[in-house]
Amino acid sequence: MPGNELFDERERKAVEEVMKTGILMRYGFGASRAGRWWARDMEDAICKRAAVGHALLLADGTAALTTALAALCVGSGDEVIMPTFTFVASFESIMAAGATPILVDVDDTLCLNPDAVQKAITPRTKVVMPVHMCGAAADIDALRDICKKHNLFLVEDACQAFGASYKGKFVGGLGDIGCYSFDYNKIVTCGEGGAVVTNDGELYKKADMYHDHGHDHNSDDRGAEGHLFPGYNYRITELHAAVGCAQISKLDDFLQRQRRNKKRFKDALSQIDEVVFRRLPDSEGDSATFLSFFMKSEEQARSATRALKDGGVEGVFHWYDNNWHYVRNWAHFKERRFANPMPPTLLAGMPDYSKADFSASDKWMSRCISISIKLGWKEEELPAKAKKAADAIKSVL
Ligand SMILES: *Cc1c(COP(=O)(O)O)cnc(C)c1O
Repeated sequence: MPGNELFDERERKAVEEVMKTGILMRYGFGASRAGRWWARDMEDAICKRAAVGHALLLADGTAALTTALAALCVGSGDEVIMPTFTFVASFESIMAAGATPILVDVDDTLCLNPDAVQKAITPRTKVVMPVHMCGAAADIDALRDICKKHNLFLVEDACQAFGASYKGKFVGGLGDIGCYSFDYNKIVTCGEGGAVVTNDGELYKKADMYHDHGHDHNSDDRGAEGHLFPGYNYRITELHAAVGCAQISKLDDFLQRQRRNKKRFKDALSQIDEVVFRRLPDSEGDSATFLSFFMKSEEQARSATRALKDGGVEGVFHWYDNNWHYVRNWAHFKERRFANPMPPTLLAGMPDYSKADFSASDKWMSRCISISIKLGWKEEELPAKAKKAADAIKSVL
C-alpha cells in the first residue's frame, strides 16, 4: 500500500486517452468520446472483483458512505453504530446524512466488538457500520447475526480494505451496501475516488440518482432527465476513473506483493515474546496493507514507535496518538465544534462524547502499533528491513 507506489505507463496511457478526446465527464458526449466510458469500465471491473451486482463509482469514499446512507433512507432521528477506531469520515458521513453517530468500542480485531454493538442498540438504531480497518475484515458473521436479529442494515466501510475477503467473499459485498475508497493513499487509487456496491438494484438506483443531483440517467439528454428527489454532486471524473481502471488491473499483483512482504515482517516480529499480533477473523483474506500488533503497555508502545521511526522504519503508526483515526484525539467532534449548526434531532440523540468511557477501546489502541506494508519493497531488501524493525522493538524491551 498504496497503489501510487507502482504507477507506470498504464496509468499514463489511460489519462492520455482521456485527454485525447477531452471528455472528462462520465455522462453524455457519446459521439465525442471514442467509445470509451472509463467510469463504467471501472464499475464493471469492481463488480467482477467484488462479485456484486452493482457498483457506482463516485468522487471519494466519504461521498460513498453518505450516498449509501441516503440510499437506505437513513437520516434525521436515526442512529448509526460505528467504531471508535476508524477515519473521521465515518462520523462525518453519518452527520452529513443527518443521522446520529453512535460510537462503539473496538476489540483486538481493531474492528467493532459485536458484544458492544449489541449493547448499543436502541429503538432508533437503523444501521451497523463496521469498518474493515487496516486492510482486514471485521467479525462479519457476528455483526450480520445482530443486524438480522434487530432488523438493521449492515453497511460495510471497506474503504481501507479493497482486495480483502472474508470467508472467500470480497469485503464490501457482505452486507446491504459496501463502500470503497480509492484515494491517493489506498491500495487501489484513482487519485481521489470511491464506490458504493450492492446486490440490491433499487438501492443502486437510489445511490446513482443521489450522487448526481437526482438525475435518473434515463435519457441521452441530461436536461430532459427526470428527478424523483434532489441529491448532491459526488460525481467522479473520467480522468480519475481512467487511473482507477489501470490500477484495478494490477490488484492481484498488489495483493501478492503485499502478502509476501507482510509475511517476512510478521515472521521477524513473531520472534519477540512481547509482541502480540492483531486477531484476524479471517487471516486468509487479509489484504496485508498493514502489520498490526500490541505491545505490553502504552508506554512500551510509545517507545517502540519512537525506536522504529528513529531506526528508519517507514510508515509506523501508533494510532492512539494520531489525530484522525482514533476517538481519543477527536476534540472537535467530542466538544461539538461544528462549522455550522447541526440538526437538533442529530444532536439530541448524541451521547456526550466529551465524557464517554472508551476504556475498553483504549486498552487495545494504547498498545497498538501498525507498520504500513509497501508494494515497492524488493524481495532482496526484505530480510534487512524486517530485521531493522525487529531490532528497534527489541531495543526498548
Ligand atoms: C479513506 C477512508 C475513508 C474515506 O475515503 P476518502 O476517499 O478519503 O473520502 C473512509 N473510511 C475509512 C476507514 C477510510 O480509511
